[in-house]
Amino acid sequence: MNPTPAQPIQRIVILGGGSAGWMAAAALSHAFHSKRSIHVVESEAIGTVGVGEATIPQMRAFNHALGLDESEFLRRTQGTFKLGIEFVDWGQRGERYMHTFGGVGRDLGLASFHHFWVRMRNEGKALPLDAYALNSLMGEANRFSREARPVQGDGPGSPVSYAYHFDAGLYAATLRQISEARGVRRTEGKVVRALQRPADGFVTALLMENGEQIEGDLFIDCSGFRGMLIEDTLHTGYEDWTHWLPCDRAVAVPCGSVAPLTPFTRATARTAGWQWRIPLQHRIGNGHVFSSAHISEDEATAQLLANLDGPALADARTLRFRTGKRKKMWHKNVVAMGLASGFLEPLESTSLYLIQSSLSRLIQFFPDTDFHQPDIDEHNAQADEEFERIRDFIILHYHLTRREDSAFWRQVRTMAIPESLSRKVQAFAHAGRLHPAQRDLFSDPSWLQVMVGQGLVPQRNHPLADHLSGAECEFFLQHVGRQLQAIAMKLPDHADYVRNYCTA
Ligand SMILES: Cc1cc2nc3c(=O)[nH]c(=O)nc-3n(C[C@H](O)[C@H](O)[C@H](O)COP(=O)(O)OP(=O)(O)OC[C@H]3O[C@@H](n4cnc5c(N)ncnc54)[C@H](O)[C@@H]3O)c2cc1C
Repeated sequence: MNPTPAQPIQRIVILGGGSAGWMAAAALSHAFHSKRSIHVVESEAIGTVGVGEATIPQMRAFNHALGLDESEFLRRTQGTFKLGIEFVDWGQRGERYMHTFGGVGRDLGLASFHHFWVRMRNEGKALPLDAYALNSLMGEANRFSREARPVQGDGPGSPVSYAYHFDAGLYAATLRQISEARGVRRTEGKVVRALQRPADGFVTALLMENGEQIEGDLFIDCSGFRGMLIEDTLHTGYEDWTHWLPCDRAVAVPCGSVAPLTPFTRATARTAGWQWRIPLQHRIGNGHVFSSAHISEDEATAQLLANLDGPALADARTLRFRTGKRKKMWHKNVVAMGLASGFLEPLESTSLYLIQSSLSRLIQFFPDTDFHQPDIDEHNAQADEEFERIRDFIILHYHLTRREDSAFWRQVRTMAIPESLSRKVQAFAHAGRLHPAQRDLFSDPSWLQVMVGQGLVPQRNHPLADHLSGAECEFFLQHVGRQLQAIAMKLPDHADYVRNYCTA
């Protein structure tokens, strides 16, 4: 939109004060140093979803860019450390594996570690893959230190990769404080509709229930699942992925903490979905993500309540969603972020990251005096690709199950999968090859850990792994495993580390 020719896009209006709205306000006020007017509109009566509690390591970069001190942030949000996710009963009932943020083993020459592991595994001489991943070993022993480093070659490798668990409501409050200190304005109240310019449908203002109009040049739709601007106003359309990811509800409830304070999220497969467990300092966040076509809400709630570690601290709350994404994340002068842009179930804790990534893209393509369609198209193409790669990674967990004990698991293990995913799975199954895709958030170690964890072991290893004799290869694996175990066991207990570094 061109308010007048050559005038900069000056007034940014953010509709929504959930995690997305306040992450956007904090990032944009930081990026533009008060050179743009930023206005957040939110309604306490409508409220927020507020269950985004588990993250991936990229969140550290976001906080760092905002100048948010780590221990201060964890103190304010009752946060703990996260080394990865423990998947229980996914491949088969009774099985478990970790998908951690760190690497696996140690590469030798030009060959990746996992080829030596595949070779020994196929000869029955390797431990499960988790035994060679430092984050897994730390997680199993409930140990944590930011200083932990695996051994690489003759010296220490890069520091341990970790993320956080935190209270999303407290995080939004922290970001609000940072944003308001930087001059972001906030209006409390309900928006009844958006006003549009008749000539081209660009949004010109938000009309509040009390008749006030909040004008802007650029509107960021962080209004949650409904997508009040991107969908109700601009009718952008939604790409539905429920045929690949049939879960469409979640019931959430916090419960009291129990020891030990585990430094990982747990995702336990149930009969028609899965249950999350996210340990914070003051409580444990729990939820059951399920397919309403396979289990009733009452039954799903009962399963959740029967599987809590401590007493429930509130009533269970149900959230409904439809997996998929907007056909365009940016349309005219509206950019959708957070739940307004689409939703992928929280199996790999990716939603808050997607907000962060959408903000970097918006800043990269930020309009100067007008909205340049090629920039918008590129922004949307990158966002689509990122969503699709994460979608494939989440589908992988369902596709590779060997469970047959319920209609839900029988459906997901036999359903057709996207071609992009099918190619990846086949390449790995054949000879352990990992084919990285452009803009894939998840790198090789993630795909490796989930594919192997779900029971897919390649038939063959890379020929480079045959250059060692059988005895040398076995010794190499044992040596790496013992070294990593020794490093893990020297670290402090996670609860002690949190107590010393960032007690709330
Ligand atoms: C079950 C579940 C579990 C999740 N777990 C995780 C996780 O572990 N990790 C992770 O990264 N993410 C997770 N997420 C996603 C995460 O919760 C969201 O990405 C995040 O909270 C962002 O939400 P939001 O700000 O887009 O929307 P919301 O929290 O819904 O906020 C919407 C805002 O818009 C305002 N609003 C709406 N309409 C109006 C109106 N008409 N007038 C004025 N204001 C209005 C509301 O008041 C509110 O402030 C999970 C999501 C769900 C559903």
